[in-house]
Amino acid sequence: MRALTFFLFITSSVFAQEMDSSAYLNMKSIVEYLASDSLKGRGTGSVEEQTAAEYISASLKKSGYKVKKQKFSFVYDSLNYKSQNIIGFVNNRKDSTLLITAHYDHLGMGDYMSLSGPGVIHNGADDNASGVALMLQLADDLVDSVQNYNLLIVGYAAHELGLFGSHYFSENLCPKYTEIVLAINFDMVGRMDKERHGYFQSSDVNLNALISNTERVKWTKSVKERLSKLDSKWFLESGVPSLTISTGIHLDYHKYSDDVQYINWDGIERIHVDLKKWLLNSFR
Ligand SMILES: [Zn+2]
Repeated sequence: MRALTFFLFITSSVFAQEMDSSAYLNMKSIVEYLASDSLKGRGTGSVEEQTAAEYISASLKKSGYKVKKQKFSFVYDSLNYKSQNIIGFVNNRKDSTLLITAHYDHLGMGDYMSLSGPGVIHNGADDNASGVALMLQLADDLVDSVQNYNLLIVGYAAHELGLFGSHYFSENLCPKYTEIVLAINFDMVGRMDKERHGYFQSSDVNLNALISNTERVKWTKSVKERLSKLDSKWFLESGVPSLTISTGIHLDYHKYSDDVQYINWDGIERIHVDLKKWLLNSFR
């Protein structure tokens, strides 16, 4: 037993040395804020969705991005909705742009799409406060180091009702954002299992090889076709190399029980450490 304890201490302390505790705490505080009851589940078109948008905007500005709100409207179930994507850009005056995205809306009070019924706040800690936290952390990590690519970070709204935000963004792409060399999307990265599985799906074979070579996560190619069902869909269709990252669907998916106490913080940090390393090696 003592030998086992010692072994566990050694392996966890090796990871601890490589963990970035400020990143860990930053991502934790982002998830805790976005998934708090005060944001009432960040329902599409709600005041709280706007509050989340302001928070993402402030975070990107603080990291050094030029931030734009991209407002759009759409009709769902005969109702008119107004919403906004948050776009952060660093123009390094290069021909290629790295795009990192995550949707920030969720189910609000569960009136649509809930699998546990309406009338209760659906905090969406995993879906997708976790993805936003990872996106904002990597945005901050890359801003000073990446010189040979422009950086484009987008928080998508109105995902849950039918990928409206990402669709609008892809249809109204500003010319200075192209050519997009890779579109990475995070959707639900907070529920890593004990075996440390992270799931990915990639449109490009070379990307598969790269992502399999990281160290802290057992990267597994997703068995579900997610690229074409998530916000990656529009870039995939226009031939942009696309990558989606997730820790997968779980029993609390789209239920009010998708809450902060079930988030695997160590798991998010493992993905963060792996991806940061991979991105800095590939896109510096
Ligand atoms: Zn969802």
